[in-house]
Amino acid sequence: MNEREAVINELLKHDIIADPEVVSYIIERGGVKYVRSIVEKYGHLGYITYEDIIPRTEGESTQSVVQVVSVPEVKGVQDEEKSAFSEPIAAEYDWEFEVLLDASVNMKASGSADDFRRLFEDRYIKIRNIITARMSMRNARSIVNLPDGDVATVGMVYDVRRTSTGKLMFELEDPTGRVRCLYSGDEIILNDEVIGVRGRYSKSKGLIFVKEIVRPDIPYSRKRRNIEEDISVAIISDVHVGSTTFLDKRWEKFLKWLRSGKDGAEKIKYLLIAGDLVDGIGVYPKQEEELEILDIFEQYEALARYLEEVPDYIKVVMIPGNHDIVRNAEPQPALPGEIRKLFNGNAEFLSNPTMFSIHGYKFMLYHGGSLNSLVELIPGMDYEMTDKMMEYMLKVRHLAPVYGDKVPLVPLPRDFLVIEDVPDVLVTGHVHTFSYGIYKGVHLINASTWQEQTKYQKMMNFNPDPGKVAILNLHEDRVYIKEF
Ligand code: FE
Ligand code: ZN
Repeated sequence: MNEREAVINELLKHDIIADPEVVSYIIERGGVKYVRSIVEKYGHLGYITYEDIIPRTEGESTQSVVQVVSVPEVKGVQDEEKSAFSEPIAAEYDWEFEVLLDASVNMKASGSADDFRRLFEDRYIKIRNIITARMSMRNARSIVNLPDGDVATVGMVYDVRRTSTGKLMFELEDPTGRVRCLYSGDEIILNDEVIGVRGRYSKSKGLIFVKEIVRPDIPYSRKRRNIEEDISVAIISDVHVGSTTFLDKRWEKFLKWLRSGKDGAEKIKYLLIAGDLVDGIGVYPKQEEELEILDIFEQYEALARYLEEVPDYIKVVMIPGNHDIVRNAEPQPALPGEIRKLFNGNAEFLSNPTMFSIHGYKFMLYHGGSLNSLVELIPGMDYEMTDKMMEYMLKVRHLAPVYGDKVPLVPLPRDFLVIEDVPDVLVTGHVHTFSYGIYKGVHLINASTWQEQTKYQKMMNFNPDPGKVAILNLHEDRVYIKEF
């Protein structure tokens, strides 16, 4: 059997039909081994075309650069609106917007060990409930009650390491106790993840010989999400207003496009910004040398002036990031009232993370602080593959699975970073690159930035990918990418 046949056979095993170009694409990327990742991403389609796997804009990036020639420079927004013969289609619809998760709650946390214990216990219980809902884990027992022989249990992972023979050794902990686990399969597990294991327990050795690791993961989404209204959501992040490296010309071009009500802009009904709205002050050493606006309130005022140019039928939804005025530890509350009052009525301020629904689509927005740790901890990751790290978040059902210095957590009695409810769209930012992927039907968008490379990033040899806007059309359930 040649490679093409092998790939086709493998696809058929998963009940999938694909265009010949898709088969070639799979062969180029490793053949049969690569089928699994195609199945994960596109399996729900049943029939996969080349267009499905190559986002339309990928091969035509030059054409997707928007040239706004139709908007006269001198006219104000008001004039343009009055002179328009017809309203953009998005103006004809009402907003359907509902907040589903708000982590702005004012819970008391002293930072004591007890507070952290409650936070981790909440994480454990929520994820355990997801795992034990699976048929194969229904008989899971708590660690203290494990009998000799075949067992299933759920715990939080500690002390993961490789033995000299290449096996995976780790400890699992639940509220009743701890147990050592040994696994010889090929799997990546990170500390603090909550996982299920199935295997043989030896009481005398105090060890589970793990046969299977069961992750909470998410189910395939088979629902038809496409909505009647032909409207779109524009998704961006990391504007960094106030920085000398803020790309004002490209940003203004984007705003102008929104105002033009043409070339796709006529469908935009929502604009989402995933944090780092302004550059802030004192975020990193010598930041003031790279600041255009030295006062953080003035930075927000400048952003508010920009957003006033956004047509008033577009709702703007914003969460904070690590450069914003709220506390750095996660979850971060929504921006305070004194900042909010600078903005007009179209603006919606939510926490980081947050979840909300737009016309029935569930969006989860997370600034992305944990991406800095995941890129180091998951082998083979880099910032151009942020969608892979977002995939990992969904597999472990947590936005910041590893607790450590990079993501300071607020020890609240509730873990807001658990992905309890599966979103239709997961959005992050923070790392200033752009990536788009699909995992089991969930759109994964790592939104781009409006800041060019800073000196710090130059030193770290980090190359941002600014000025890209992800546009999710809710009627087609499809993501387009526009570059400004
Ligand atoms: Fe940023
Ligand atoms: Zn950030």
